Amino acid sequence: MKYSGMNMEQVKRRNRAAILNYINETGPVSRKDIATATGLTPAAVTQICSVLMEEHILEELGRAHSEGVGRKKVLVNINYDHTYLYAINMEPDGVKIALSNLKGDAVAKTLYSFDDQKSPRETLGEIAREAKKLGAGHRNLPIGGVSVAISGIVDKKKGLSVHAYGIWDEQVKVCEILESEFDLPVIIENNVNALAVAELLYGFGRQIDNILLIKWGPGVGSSMILKKELYEGTDRKAAELGHYIVEKDGAKCSCGRRGCLETKVSYPALCRIRPFAYDEFGVALAESEELKDALDLFARCIVNTVTIVSPNRVILCGSLFRSESVRRELIDACKKYDAAIDEERVSYTDLSDREDYIGPVATFLDHVIRFS
Ligand SMILES: [Zn+2]
Repeated sequence: MKYSGMNMEQVKRRNRAAILNYINETGPVSRKDIATATGLTPAAVTQICSVLMEEHILEELGRAHSEGVGRKKVLVNINYDHTYLYAINMEPDGVKIALSNLKGDAVAKTLYSFDDQKSPRETLGEIAREAKKLGAGHRNLPIGGVSVAISGIVDKKKGLSVHAYGIWDEQVKVCEILESEFDLPVIIENNVNALAVAELLYGFGRQIDNILLIKWGPGVGSSMILKKELYEGTDRKAAELGHYIVEKDGAKCSCGRRGCLETKVSYPALCRIRPFAYDEFGVALAESEELKDALDLFARCIVNTVTIVSPNRVILCGSLFRSESVRRELIDACKKYDAAIDEERVSYTDLSDREDYIGPVATFLDHVIRFS
């Protein structure tokens, strides 16, 4: 068997990523504690931290008392202000743009509405102009890149939106177009995967290894975190809960197949049963057996997915889950099929106040951690 080891550059990058991930998880921490947690030698931690401080990615935060003795430990933390970015979240119902640091503290935000008459290139040009207006008000900030999260299938390596259901029907070179608009590096990720990375870096995922994230609104999106890594499968379509086939010869789905769950429980599908505004779903649900049946179908698909992948936690996000009564109904429906899928196992995202833009911020921080 041919041995294929990592070269020195890969080892260095892996060690840097391990240190940055640990600091991001714990907050301010001493070099000694980093060495204990990561298994790296104290000398290696000191050397890597020195380089990260020269690059302004890490900062020292004074000293904390050590246990038992009078000496104090110097703590280091990620300098989340060392780079700001334009975070662009593109979904069929509009585009949210934020200028944010690496922690998701946005200093400015704006919205952009799609115009069906505009080509993808024109649309991206307009989005870039709106974003740059935000930057013009904050010229003192070190803006280092652009991060796009978009519905549908994405080719991260090539910087493509392969098929953004409900936004455009063609392959679009999003990164190439936006790099020419901004003159900054641009990265792209699927919007639901981006939210899962956000949970990993800022939310429940800091303490939990295996997560099934479900986003419910105009469509039904889902992503898996397995052993603290985004699991995309061989075709980047893993864990697509919304595209379970639930009906023979059912309605055509945005993915091209027929009878997917999404054709039964997406917001437009539910509105065909009974029209309601997002924030009135709880009321509509209480008054409609047909809507309850749709929720029950959704619950069965969640229970089946949990049966297969057994995540520690199911995290709910998206506009239709904002209602507490809707979440309670869904968890009750799940419990009917499997008592273990209860309030302990199913949580509402703790990032809901930043849901509009935290995904692309997270993928950018992830990029800094892995590739800086
Ligand atoms: Zn489908």
